Amino acid sequence: MEELWDQTKIFLVHFAHFQKRNRMKRYGLPILLIIIVAFTKHYFHSFLGDNSAFLLASFIVAMSSWYGGLGPGIFATILSVPTIYLLYLSKDTAYHPLLGDFFVLIIFAIEGVIISIVSEARYEMENQKDEFIGFISHELKNPLSSIKGFSGLIINNAKKKKDEKILSYGEQISIQSNIILELINDLLDLTRIEIGKFTYSNSFFNVEDITREIVAHQRIISKNRIIELHGRSKKLLYADKYRVGQVIINLLTNALKYSPENKKVLLRLKETKEKILFNIKDYGMGIPHNEQKMIFNRFYRTRNTERKRSEGLGLGLYIANQIIKHHKGELWVESKEGKGSTFSFYLPLKNN
Ligand code: ADP
Repeated sequence: MEELWDQTKIFLVHFAHFQKRNRMKRYGLPILLIIIVAFTKHYFHSFLGDNSAFLLASFIVAMSSWYGGLGPGIFATILSVPTIYLLYLSKDTAYHPLLGDFFVLIIFAIEGVIISIVSEARYEMENQKDEFIGFISHELKNPLSSIKGFSGLIINNAKKKKDEKILSYGEQISIQSNIILELINDLLDLTRIEIGKFTYSNSFFNVEDITREIVAHQRIISKNRIIELHGRSKKLLYADKYRVGQVIINLLTNALKYSPENKKVLLRLKETKEKILFNIKDYGMGIPHNEQKMIFNRFYRTRNTERKRSEGLGLGLYIANQIIKHHKGELWVESKEGKGSTFSFYLPLKNN
């Protein structure tokens, strides 16, 4: 249910991004809707009753302003006033005297203007939020890159001079700046998903190859951890290699983050005729049954995680789920509290 609401919100926000639409489309929608309503009015009247004219006109104004902004909203209001009058009110003068009609139409016009203003304001707020996150992320990313660069220099220097203390300081700076960079990247991805600018670029690649690369890299970063890779996958997948890699990295770093240092993490690849299956198993804290669905929501972190104050924003799985869904696959979890978790996803091969 929450997911449906999330999808609806994303759709509405996407729908409200009228700046990239041309004037023809923005002003064309109210005209089109009014023509449709004019031709189908009897149908609506049968189940919406006497109020159908106002309900439909309000709907047209709301849609038009959400889709096109203030101008098209007001335009829809102006078009709706004579339409309501000609199609509904003037037909029944005994029931609706002229003065009464006039007041009703004035009230509708005020309502139309208010809806249009509120829609535009709502859009502006969303836009400002997106711009703010984008701006902050960019402003933070540049200085962070130079901090990372300098931490690399400190590490190299300390290694040459065999200065253990400075070496550990340099490593800490590098680790912490990587954590901040991951958080910023998650925030940027979320913003891109919400405004419909999360792009994909597909190519043919082998999932086993990128998994091996990711595991090799992770083994270097997490020196004390045992990461095992089982199974094979020889077929080529047609998908966004970078994004699929992003999913694997997220699941792997979570498995390491939410399980003790002395426990291993197992990755398994399997392929059938139609799909590639990927599992990742850890022997960590696990996820309570009632929270297993919620971890795929934006900003959701389990109560146990929050208590431990481990770093993270609760965005990785949401982004991973969006990526897998985009490729027509599925991502899910099986877990037992205190025993560990297995995250799995499959990706269909049928595009090949
Ligand atoms: P983050 O790890 O940044 O909090 P995610 O979206 O990747 O965000 O994960 C959401 C939440 O799901 C985590 O905060 C954690 O509570 C839970 N979680 C994810 N992976 C695991 C795992 N392997 N074991 C236990 N809990 C997990």
